[in-house]
Amino acid sequence: MKICVLPGDGIGPEIMAEAVRVLKALGLGFEMEEALLGGCAVDATGSPYPEATQKLALAADAVLLGAVGGPKWDNNPREQRPERGLLGIRKHLGLFANLRPAILYPELANASTLKPEVVAGLDILIVRELTGDIYFGQPRGIEVRDGERCGFNTMIYSESEIRRILRVAFDAARKRSRKVCSVDKMNVLECTQLWRDVAIETGREYPDVELSHMLVDNAAMQLVKNPKQFDVMVTGNMFGDILSDEASMLTGSIGMLPSASLDANNKGLYEPSHGSAPDIAGKGVANPLATILSVAMMLRYTFANEPAAVRIENAVKKVLAQGLRTGDIFEPGMNKVGTRAMGDAVLAAL
Ligand code: NAD
Repeated sequence: MKICVLPGDGIGPEIMAEAVRVLKALGLGFEMEEALLGGCAVDATGSPYPEATQKLALAADAVLLGAVGGPKWDNNPREQRPERGLLGIRKHLGLFANLRPAILYPELANASTLKPEVVAGLDILIVRELTGDIYFGQPRGIEVRDGERCGFNTMIYSESEIRRILRVAFDAARKRSRKVCSVDKMNVLECTQLWRDVAIETGREYPDVELSHMLVDNAAMQLVKNPKQFDVMVTGNMFGDILSDEASMLTGSIGMLPSASLDANNKGLYEPSHGSAPDIAGKGVANPLATILSVAMMLRYTFANEPAAVRIENAVKKVLAQGLRTGDIFEPGMNKVGTRAMGDAVLAAL
């Protein structure tokens, strides 16, 4: 079992160090190898996704990533931007399913902008298709028609693309509360009429999972009004882009949210939902919990080791219950700690 470790830029190396300590403490005998991705890779090799990293990522069973990017590289030519590395590795590994949990631990209910009773205990998983839809459909462009500029894109999904992402959602729901809400806009868009038809067909393969459907405008509203009604939400690339950000912001604590991107064989790239936080990089104050919780997702989805995943999640719950907080989730009366001390506390709780 081989894991490719990519600390990346900014706070990446600091939060990754804690995640790796947690992983080692589990004693599961993983082989880990580090490589460069993002700005650090541009500095060292001229490429944000160098060949050595490509080889390692392809050979590994899973990839653990910190974060990439920072102002240092913002004015680089497009090919030498850190984000290119991120897009490159996702494409190279064929990662088509993005899983983003939005979990609000009861202890952090005040971090949300919504009323605590609406969000306390929230636990949603958004499953977003990553490689199709209007973001990649052809034809696309801006051209002059009848004497004025027109912009156009193509929303397109094949039934096999829809079916494989629906299966990821149903499989994930079987590890949770067995409810899938498929989000579309079938009243207006033929592409998503097909989405709904295929969702219904695929649902027949999973009689033990409850399937419901919701139009995307209503889904955006329901996420704010009554988010706890959802278990797993599954949708296309564009709707998922928007709804997953909305869902993560319900929690108010970006430093707590992990994510996974999976291929057809459950090989995955696991990373926190946040970026490289250049404003606090090198200060030892970043919250490592999103990265530590990404390790839990990796154990659950790639290595099918549910007990180890739950062990990490319970350790995180325990340190929150003990009142430990990094700056991003700090409230008066709590015990403010830095990155290393938070990692120490999770290890102790394990
Ligand atoms: P960001 O998520 O890095 O930071 C937003 C705010 O949240 C900042 O105030 C930051 O200090 C805080 N924050 C983020 N993670 C935190 C943590 N673990 N602990 C404590 N505080 C935390 O988003 P941004 O500022 O928009 O982007 C900064 C850089 O990160 C940019 O170069 C961007 O391109 C890149 N980025 C990378 C990824 C990725 O690697 N997947 C994702 C988003 C942004």
